[in-house]
Amino acid sequence: MDRVIFLQELRKLDLQGKDAKRLYNEISSLAMKYIQASEKPKRCAHYLSIEFLIGRVFYNNLLELGVLKEVSEILKEKGVNIALFEEIEDAALGNGGLGRLAACYMDSGAAVGIPLYGYGIRYKYGLFRQTFEDGFQKELPDDWQRFGDPWSIRKEEEKQIIRFADMEVEAVPYDMPVIGKRVNVLRLYQAEGNKDAGKISGVLYPPDDTEEGKLLRIRQEYFLSASAIGDVIREYEKRRGNDYRYFAEENSIQLNDTHPVFAIPELIRVLKEKGLTYHSALKIAKQVFNYTNHTILPEALEHWDVRLLKKILPEISEILLSINTSARYYHRKDGYTPQESVATSIYIHSRRAFSMANTAVFIANKINGVAAIHSEIIKRELFVAEYAHHPEKFENVTNGVAQRRWLELANPELSALLDKQIGHDWREHFQELDKLNAYTANEDTISEFIQVKGKKKEQLLCYIEKAEGIRIDGNRILYAQVKRLHEYKRQLMTAFALLRLYYDLKEGKFRDFTPSVFLFGAKSAPSYFRAKGIIKYINEIIKLINADSETNDKLMGVFVTEYNVSYAEKIVAAADVSLQVSTAGLEASGTGNMKFMMNGAVTLGTMDGANIEIVEKAGEENNYIFGARVEEIEELRKGGYDPPCHLNKHPEWNKVVRTLIDGTFSDEGAGYFRELYDSLTIGASWHKPDHYFIFRDLEEYYRAILRVNADYQNKTYFAAKQLKNTANSYSFSSDRSIKEYAQKIWRIN
Ligand SMILES: *Cc1c(COP(=O)(O)O)cnc(C)c1O
Repeated sequence: MDRVIFLQELRKLDLQGKDAKRLYNEISSLAMKYIQASEKPKRCAHYLSIEFLIGRVFYNNLLELGVLKEVSEILKEKGVNIALFEEIEDAALGNGGLGRLAACYMDSGAAVGIPLYGYGIRYKYGLFRQTFEDGFQKELPDDWQRFGDPWSIRKEEEKQIIRFADMEVEAVPYDMPVIGKRVNVLRLYQAEGNKDAGKISGVLYPPDDTEEGKLLRIRQEYFLSASAIGDVIREYEKRRGNDYRYFAEENSIQLNDTHPVFAIPELIRVLKEKGLTYHSALKIAKQVFNYTNHTILPEALEHWDVRLLKKILPEISEILLSINTSARYYHRKDGYTPQESVATSIYIHSRRAFSMANTAVFIANKINGVAAIHSEIIKRELFVAEYAHHPEKFENVTNGVAQRRWLELANPELSALLDKQIGHDWREHFQELDKLNAYTANEDTISEFIQVKGKKKEQLLCYIEKAEGIRIDGNRILYAQVKRLHEYKRQLMTAFALLRLYYDLKEGKFRDFTPSVFLFGAKSAPSYFRAKGIIKYINEIIKLINADSETNDKLMGVFVTEYNVSYAEKIVAAADVSLQVSTAGLEASGTGNMKFMMNGAVTLGTMDGANIEIVEKAGEENNYIFGARVEEIEELRKGGYDPPCHLNKHPEWNKVVRTLIDGTFSDEGAGYFRELYDSLTIGASWHKPDHYFIFRDLEEYYRAILRVNADYQNKTYFAAKQLKNTANSYSFSSDRSIKEYAQKIWRIN
């Protein structure tokens, strides 16, 4: 990009009387004129993902272009505060961790100069916008394009036709440049062409509890997969014509979870159409595809009914059956036992459905988990047979986050401190952060860090006052649990701990209690009954606590609405304590934990996901680890876990948990609280009581919170721990993750 010319042009731009939206579009469009995608080298990697949780692109793109500061100054001269663009909606074309990871990976691919091309869906509506009414979550449509979409270019001439048995739709690409050492492209497809097409790129994860809903999901997944495959083939043919011998040598395709797994039968279908035999097409597929697993939760492992597939994608269904036959053939040849054959089967007889994970596992050249422990668990529990026969296919790539967004952009104050201590290179070479370890005992550095934290906290609390209407004073420990609402993430356990703190405070049980605030942020899937109940319950607890003038100088809570990437940027910079308390074994990695760590929050959490690697790097003594380890949870799951017994040992907890049913709080007859109580004490048809082992860990969790509370009394001592976390977060850059993918999986560079 020619920065000088862009800045000259910007200086000439007339800003008079234009509102935020107009300015946003004009400045962005001007920048776009000077951005040019890099040449594609011979071998490229393609990243297929049903979600890209991009967040706000304006600041990030200007930052990557290296003009953010200059633009800010030019605007200031013209009387415009660059913060004005905070009005512009985030592009929330994703749900949570998986989608944000995809966005960080795109960012890092460009930053480190790897040819990485993203493929996704340009949803008309992103993840719903959240509000609370009387503490209940309400969902509003997220019309993110109402501000325009100046950072994308519609590529009319590169549209394709995607065919279903009962309809044809056009897939029109919108290209977003991803700026760094290279300029890569994130290509998002919009479905057009007839009145039903719009639905396919309508919303992210439409409800799939009806047959119609399931069909729509299949259509979305196939739409993404077929568009991407069509594009990769077309690019290839431009260079090589109809000679497909080099296809695998020149292309690597990463399947981000199972949603894009239809890309496998689709590639085979297309290659057959081009004249290849099924077997040579299969061989190519086996070299090209790689699969990232993101979860071991059984409800998230996709299966598609053969009946539904036959209805709208008969050819794809046939090819999946052929792959099933091939898998059985290879498995027999490789000596899989009959049980192993059943476990790895692509077609599952008992369900009359295809297992998308097994399809991916059979075809993938490499399969990876997203943190060390998770990669071990998938070998030990999920893909046991495949690992026994093909250990060479398994890799680990621990997740990472882009330090440019999550540190440089989110926390300019801490960035300035880093620049002063260790120089500027950490933006590009995050390992440089290690140098900060030389200063973590330095009193001046610690004291500057305390100032930075205080300032970020003040900014956040000021924003919260504006956005949520709750005033919280800054002299408090800020504990934060922000992430999607899910039972396994155990926000409910934090709620119990918070309520217990309140009761103990009321009873005068603490001599010295450092004032604290608990911050929650989370969206629940609209149809997830329990998650919605947990939101309501937390809001009820917060209402009680905040209104109590006897204790609210010591303890408060806030549940921020509309938690998204931009909110996350503010929260991770300000928090003192990062709550990462999932049931051991269930959080594949987490990436929120890394964002907090970089910004100098200590982790208060379980030995799960990347928390393990975080404390390994930063030291257990600088973090607060509690609760059952994976091995213990596995034992408890086998039998002998008796939640009511745990509860009865502690009358204090009994009192807390019973507030779900004893009338302390009301869910206004919705039945949420009773159902939550039953899920913990009786269980349900599909699970034993306290499925996520809250009662096992609750007391230990509480003790850990109190340890933080006591340690924080010595601010310098506590800040030194926090600084140690920043200094040792150097492994958690997504630049490192992407380089590992490039070496171990894509074999690029
Ligand atoms: C990072 C991030 C997540 C993932 O958080 P986890 O704690 O790893 O689950 C979810 N949502 C948003 C908006 C994020 O920025």
